[in-house]
Amino acid sequence: MTDSNPKLDKFRAETKAWLDENFPKSLNGKASEISHGKNNSGKLNKDNESWRKNLATQGWGAPTWPVAYGGAGLSQKQAQIINEEMAQIGAFNPIPTLAGMGVTMVGPTILEYGTESQKRRHLPMMASGENFWCLGYSEPGAGSDLASLSTKAEDKGDHWLINGQKVWTSGADIAQWCGALVRTDPSAKKRNGISFVMFPMDQPGIRTRPLKLITGDSPFCEMFFDDAKADKDELLGDLNDGWSLGKRLLQHERQSQTGEGGPASGGEFLGDIAKRYVGTTEDGILEDADLRMRLVNHLMDEQAHKLTISRIMAEAKGNVEVTAVASILKNSATDVAQSRTELLVELMGSQGLGWEGNEYSQDELTSVRMWLGVKAMSIYGGSYEVQKNIISKNILGLPETTQKG
Ligand SMILES: Cc1cc2nc3c(=O)[nH]c(=O)nc-3n(C[C@H](O)[C@H](O)[C@H](O)COP(=O)(O)OP(=O)(O)OC[C@H]3O[C@@H](n4cnc5c(N)ncnc54)[C@H](O)[C@@H]3O)c2cc1C
Repeated sequence: MTDSNPKLDKFRAETKAWLDENFPKSLNGKASEISHGKNNSGKLNKDNESWRKNLATQGWGAPTWPVAYGGAGLSQKQAQIINEEMAQIGAFNPIPTLAGMGVTMVGPTILEYGTESQKRRHLPMMASGENFWCLGYSEPGAGSDLASLSTKAEDKGDHWLINGQKVWTSGADIAQWCGALVRTDPSAKKRNGISFVMFPMDQPGIRTRPLKLITGDSPFCEMFFDDAKADKDELLGDLNDGWSLGKRLLQHERQSQTGEGGPASGGEFLGDIAKRYVGTTEDGILEDADLRMRLVNHLMDEQAHKLTISRIMAEAKGNVEVTAVASILKNSATDVAQSRTELLVELMGSQGLGWEGNEYSQDELTSVRMWLGVKAMSIYGGSYEVQKNIISKNILGLPETTQKG
């Protein structure tokens, strides 16, 4: 339990009152309605749209950002209180989802590296959930070895001219803006000739083609640049310094993926679901001893992951710096999410393998898709193995053995 703090207690009471007045009761527990495709206000239903607007006006879409850039200038602790109070009443902040890679990744990087005019131009539209951002890093020949990327941007005086191809770009087909790593000096060593540029997606030089995931969804795309343009002042950070900035952005990405157990967390307690499907002994404990053991192991891992996050927060006194530690948390969040969904479909038996049809409940159908969906967690944001490389080099101090260049 946290120590009592009169200022924070007052803030909590005000938050409760504000939520009580502004959160539409019809949206209780419906965070999952905000997903891929509902990226701009036009596609949200009336209650969702009014909730988005109210949150944006309050600056709570990105509460720790300065007020001048669409945030509320709050501390991490205050932001945490908002989350806690929202969770209490089934409320949620849809804005990070509506902004794609904006609030969680590109935004924090603009805050750190951007010019004043870039901050004023881009951050408020992210913090209100009106602009959806995609992120163009991976290419057909550059995934884990990202520095091999070959999409190039040429300096044409008043703009950058972009040619090449990206792949696996989440939300490219619905995004208003893209932040991308591009090669600006082909003659430099591969990590030295890269820059980060930002450009609008609605232009003739950009074509996107959705790719299908194993879950049946198409949340990501191939993206082709054929003389696409970026304004001259849309270069983020210094020319040819995109590698260090790009790595920083990835830390923000991993940090955003470390939330307690990842996308598959939350919902009904796994032990209760297991008892319902597998049955109990006369003493009321789960019938299957082997499953019981694995379930307990999973629950302990989940608890250890949550406690590690709490410890890091406490050590940082609520102001968590994004560092290589994000790689540890990203991998433990992946382990927890994948083991939860594995157990979930296993304990449901044949009911946990349905794809469609009236014989399956909505929860069962969702569980199968989640089980398949979280497999991607060990790939996106840098693969599981690549996180291990980062941990061994940047945290354990072991020598680098791969990806030289
Ligand atoms: C759902 C999803 C969404 C994504 N969204 C985006 C996005 O929005 N923008 C974007 O730019 N990218 C996105 N990606 C791409 C993602 O970042 C890459 O898939 C990832 O970086 C791995 O690259 P790759 O697929 O080329 O695999 P590869 O790099 O070819 O890796 C293949 C395998 O080899 C292993 N491997 C490679 N190098 C090493 C090494 N040095 N040491 C140990 N093992 C190694 C990897 O761990 C992996 O298992 C997304 C991917 C997914 C699945």
